[in-house]
Amino acid sequence: MDFTLSPEQELIRETARSFCDAEIAPHAAEWDRSETIDRGIVAKLASVGFLAAALPEEHGGMGLGVLDYTLVVEELGRADSNVRGIVSVSNGLYGKSVARWGTDGQRARLLPALAAGTELGCYALTEPGAGSDPAGLQTSATRDGDGWRLSGQKIFITLGSWASSALVFARTGEAGARGITCFVVATDADGFEARPIKGKLGLRAQDTAELYLDGVAVGPDDVLGEVGGGFKVAMSALDHGRISLGAGCVGIAQGCLDASVAYTKERTQFGRSVASFQLVQELLADIAVETEAARLLVRRAAATADRGDRHTVEASYAKYFASEVAVRAANAAVQAHGGYGYVDEYPVGKYLRDARVTTLYEGTSQIQKLLIGRALTGENAFA
Ligand SMILES: Cc1cc2nc3c(=O)[nH]c(=O)nc-3n(C[C@H](O)[C@H](O)[C@H](O)COP(=O)(O)OP(=O)(O)OC[C@H]3O[C@@H](n4cnc5c(N)ncnc54)[C@H](O)[C@@H]3O)c2cc1C
Repeated sequence: MDFTLSPEQELIRETARSFCDAEIAPHAAEWDRSETIDRGIVAKLASVGFLAAALPEEHGGMGLGVLDYTLVVEELGRADSNVRGIVSVSNGLYGKSVARWGTDGQRARLLPALAAGTELGCYALTEPGAGSDPAGLQTSATRDGDGWRLSGQKIFITLGSWASSALVFARTGEAGARGITCFVVATDADGFEARPIKGKLGLRAQDTAELYLDGVAVGPDDVLGEVGGGFKVAMSALDHGRISLGAGCVGIAQGCLDASVAYTKERTQFGRSVASFQLVQELLADIAVETEAARLLVRRAAATADRGDRHTVEASYAKYFASEVAVRAANAAVQAHGGYGYVDEYPVGKYLRDARVTTLYEGTSQIQKLLIGRALTGENAFA
């Protein structure tokens, strides 16, 4: 596969880089320290089209292809994973799911506000008792007239308190994957409560919440996809989400490389730059090679998706490798900065904290390996 970027793709990447350098990177450390992002960033993201990037043009989106979209997400990840998550979740996990599985009416009702940044969406799959095994989720949807009432608890939901609308996966039937339905739920509905989760290792400025649903009423128009088809909706969102997350991880790793090259060239010990020591160059070379390899896996997965081919396994390769690389790169970057890497005057400590979650969410590294192993052998190690 040839991944040389076209002039249009270079322009997308450069536009994203300029925006991130001007509007995000200068604030990232302060948002991290204060554990709050200035919410004005949502309107700014919308003004450059990033909250519409992956959405169809007929509903206000930019209609970018998957590879083009990863160019934007990589730059966001390099600038600040807190902001990258807003785009990946609202425009990606939520928006792409509505675009793919929604009726014409649902798309027209939900997507324009999302693209304009006047509303955000979140994706609520995980529960206290159902993380790696979402088919075991317990949130219930019981029939009420021609609609349903939802009750249960969701945990670790990105944008759970900021979003106006949530994709809530709930049980409408039999145990297991086939009894799950996806609902579009307004977060200001009676019986819906979001409680922010504090004390995170990283992504400190990002909104993460527990959701409580107590008899929340939804109508027949709020079912996304088919009744009983929710697991398919959830997994298809992750097939795309994992490519986007992989791109965000490449951004973290690239940011670590850029910061480390600059710092080690500047810092002197023993009368010479620390960059001139071979063992420091080894740290930099490892980050550089792994970052490039991760980028190629992300682009391979994106190109597969752009061709319209099934890309579940390619997305797992990309997500698994890129997330592990982000953690290794950030750890090596802290090493290259010495003691200065341990304080937040430099970005690498934050990169390490923000990277750490990426091997956990959207399927842990262990789960990605099981998906890859299943594809290689035909044996399902989940069951
Ligand atoms: C900051 C943050 C944001 C998040 N955002 C969202 C969101 O927006 N929406 C959402 O729905 N969820 C979200 N999540 C949840 C995330 O996807 C889950 O935490 C993740 O899927 C892992 O589930 P768990 O935490 O229950 O871990 P568990 O499933 O309990 O896993 C614990 C350990 O056991 C291992 N393990 C589990 N099963 C197996 C197996 N079969 N074989 C081998 N090892 C196994 C895991 O790899 C892990 O090491 C978020 C999480 C965090 C921390």
